[in-house]
Amino acid sequence: MPIYEYYCAECNGVFEQLMSAKRASEAQPCPQCDAESRRIMPTEFQAFTVRDGAPRRIPDRGTYWHFEQEVGRPVTETVQLNEHPDLFAEKYGPEKPPTAEEQDEFAEKLMSRLDYEENALNAGVVPTDDTYQRQNMQQFVDRTRKTAAAAEALRRKQPNEASTPKTRSGEHETPKKTTRKKKEES
Ligand SMILES: [Zn+2]
Repeated sequence: MPIYEYYCAECNGVFEQLMSAKRASEAQPCPQCDAESRRIMPTEFQAFTVRDGAPRRIPDRGTYWHFEQEVGRPVTETVQLNEHPDLFAEKYGPEKPPTAEEQDEFAEKLMSRLDYEENALNAGVVPTDDTYQRQNMQQFVDRTRKTAAAAEALRRKQPNEASTPKTRSGEHETPKKTTRKKKEES
């Protein structure tokens, strides 16, 4: 029998149920509260996530769901649009510090925003809030702060990293061949 998904509005939770295809469209009792739950299509889960905040999986494993992917914590920080920080790190690796160009771009944006606000206030108008821009800029500041803190933590952890080269696997290389070669060259 195939597995179908059902949504319990009482619990704001989604659960799976083995059902015969014939009876799949019938409402099923929620395993937690017994309320009649209607079947949802797999693609609908995302819609529930957006509309109702954070539906849980039943049985509740204490995890959270972010666009159909299970994560260990809810989003509590400024992140890339629609990206959970853990999943983002998995996909793209750890965040990188902003490049010089990105920093210039940010400074430009900040200056034009301040200009705009000043002009608005001079004209006796309350500056309109650009939520998207504000979040974007906050994101940049957070990223700068986080990557700088991470770099500093790494530096403290490995103060002599330069003298103990690492292999790609992250393990310390035994410095036999490389150091000898370097000495011969220089
Ligand atoms: Zn329920």
